[in-house]
Amino acid sequence: MNNVNCSIIKDILPLYIDNLISEDTRKFVENHIQNCDECRKELSLLKTDLNVPEAIINEQDGVAILKKLRLDIRKKRVFTGILSAIIVILSFAYLTAPEYLPYTESLEIAAAKENNGSVTLSFTGEYELSQRAQGVYGISLYDTIWNKLFNTEKKQTIIVNPNGEAVNTIYYVSNGGQEDKVIYGENPIYNGGVMTLPRLFLNYYITLDILIALVLAVFFLMFRKKEKVKAIIVKMLFVLVSYFVSHVMITGFNATSYSATRDFCLILLLAIPIYFIAYIFYEKKKNS
Ligand SMILES: [Zn+2]
Repeated sequence: MNNVNCSIIKDILPLYIDNLISEDTRKFVENHIQNCDECRKELSLLKTDLNVPEAIINEQDGVAILKKLRLDIRKKRVFTGILSAIIVILSFAYLTAPEYLPYTESLEIAAAKENNGSVTLSFTGEYELSQRAQGVYGISLYDTIWNKLFNTEKKQTIIVNPNGEAVNTIYYVSNGGQEDKVIYGENPIYNGGVMTLPRLFLNYYITLDILIALVLAVFFLMFRKKEKVKAIIVKMLFVLVSYFVSHVMITGFNATSYSATRDFCLILLLAIPIYFIAYIFYEKKKNS
């Protein structure tokens, strides 16, 4: 037997031990080993190394193991992809979370001017402009960690009434339990001020989420012997659990938010990869 054959045999010996080769290749290996001391030694060495009991793994098992292995690699890739998605979304959420600037700090930067009926606001930073009523506007300024890190704060001038609508009052909205201040026009309220309160709808959603989850948990116990019903309930439960986990990750346990719409979008976005992770773990546990 020549050296080329020997190196081929040595390459496939591990597969031979695991019974992952075809019948013809097996015969080829066995023929060779009968006539080659070196390869025979190599084989016995490999066997003691791996400590694989002979004749326990048959060919079918080998194929099954190989298929499972391949599946696991694919699952690992999917898993890594999903984890990366979670990290990206969370980083985005934290880096771009608005830190609202209180009135005193932004006194100079939110300058309002009127010119031929067009009202402009000049300031530095990000802004939210909303119309509260006919002729009444509110503006908030905020900073983000991202802007601080990369120094991308920009000076802006915006037109409050691009279509020439009447602007009677512009409030500066501090969003932190501070009174809203009039920075342009007249204060239409004479008895006390206005305060913008955090929006509470995330609170309602999370409460609803927990209540439905509890009801489903009861259903799960009731139908625990009916596999099909149980499977559907589990899938629905995972949706609710994913929403809950996502909510906590985005807003913490405090559900009141001045930027609730933004938070809600991020919660939904993050809930998707969390759902898949939960499902992968569940399937893995069920199959093991
Ligand atoms: Zn050999």
